[in-house]
Amino acid sequence: MIWYPYEQMKTMKEPYSIIDAEGVYLYTEDQKLIDSISSWWSVIHGYKHPELNEAVENQLKQFSHVMLGGLTHEPVRRLSDKLEQWLPGDLDYCFFSDSGSVAVEVALKMALQYYMNREETDRTMVLALEHGYHGDTFKTMEVGDDEDYHFVLKAYGASRNVIHIPTTIEALEQAFSRYHKKLNSMLVEPLLQGAGGMRMYDSSFLKRARELCDRYGVLLIFDEVATGFGRTGNRFVADLVLPDILVLGKALTGGYMGHAVTVANHKVYEGFYDDDPAHALMHGPTFMGNPLACSVTLKSIELFEKQDYMSKIQKIAELTRREMADFSHPAVKEVRMMGACICIEVYDPETLKGYQQFAYERGVFSRPFLRYLYAMVPYVIEEAELVKVLNTMKEWFDQRSGKK
Ligand SMILES: *Cc1c(COP(=O)(O)O)cnc(C)c1O
Repeated sequence: MIWYPYEQMKTMKEPYSIIDAEGVYLYTEDQKLIDSISSWWSVIHGYKHPELNEAVENQLKQFSHVMLGGLTHEPVRRLSDKLEQWLPGDLDYCFFSDSGSVAVEVALKMALQYYMNREETDRTMVLALEHGYHGDTFKTMEVGDDEDYHFVLKAYGASRNVIHIPTTIEALEQAFSRYHKKLNSMLVEPLLQGAGGMRMYDSSFLKRARELCDRYGVLLIFDEVATGFGRTGNRFVADLVLPDILVLGKALTGGYMGHAVTVANHKVYEGFYDDDPAHALMHGPTFMGNPLACSVTLKSIELFEKQDYMSKIQKIAELTRREMADFSHPAVKEVRMMGACICIEVYDPETLKGYQQFAYERGVFSRPFLRYLYAMVPYVIEEAELVKVLNTMKEWFDQRSGKK
């Protein structure tokens, strides 16, 4: 018996059963669907990509897995070299893991231990954002701020080690003036908060955060598990404002398999690098640096560069703006767009009930949640396909005009 994610099993509707997938399309027994959300924002090159398949198959002929404890291999060496060269600044030190949540846990552990290694033992707190989402493991639930997901944490009462602020400069300055001596890090989803409702904010907030982190010696962590690889219209938000630790996941492998990486800068790495064994980073996911995952990631990055994905993303952003320009509806609170992400926020979650089936019948797979109807399409989508995704969203509101 499968226990499905985020579902009340007693009342959940039957999921669509997928029998094949290729390009932007998912196939069920009776329908062909454009995947408008790229399998939780990860499948940026589409499904069954010949070159990505080939990369996995070639590695499979060598070996599918060996651990990184006491062993190493070419795919992981090549990938860490590539990331070192490709990521901005001195984000050069790659710690691999098997999922975004774990990679965020690793980043938080790094930040805490960085100060413990320096015997600054008062720095136990993390500054994070309201409506932040960083995963479903215990520490990531605690730094996240999403009551709709993580009510189980109420069992523990309010956390003493995490402060949540809204994305205003005023709140940021206040938090630093009050807590700077106790903070080891500030953790954010930069520019675009995904699971908290596709909320968007300005880079001026991040620039100010960088200044304050520098002034008070606090490590800045970007969780780019969702925003990385072009989703915001920037290759990485870290290209605009440089964090001390960068977390990548989801699209890292082109959505081919679960893998993630926590990338530290030179300063953070130096905080662990000495003769004391107790200053080592004590972490080691069983499948970290998996050779299949590294091989497919290398190929995914190669496609991203060679086929100029940033211009594809630019085109998606432009088309989305064009198609949504004259859209409005009394049930809609706000339409938000950034890069290859669009979100229609409604006033009442009831407004979106039935949308998934409506879209299914029109050949689009979508998964609205709470008050948010959104699309985060694979970057290889054609213009007509993107227009169809957006038209389906608009039609839903048109056909229920007047009603709220
Ligand atoms: C999805 C997500 C995570 C968690 O990644 P998993 O691979 O599901 O553990 C963490 N942070 C952000 C911003 C995410 O969108």
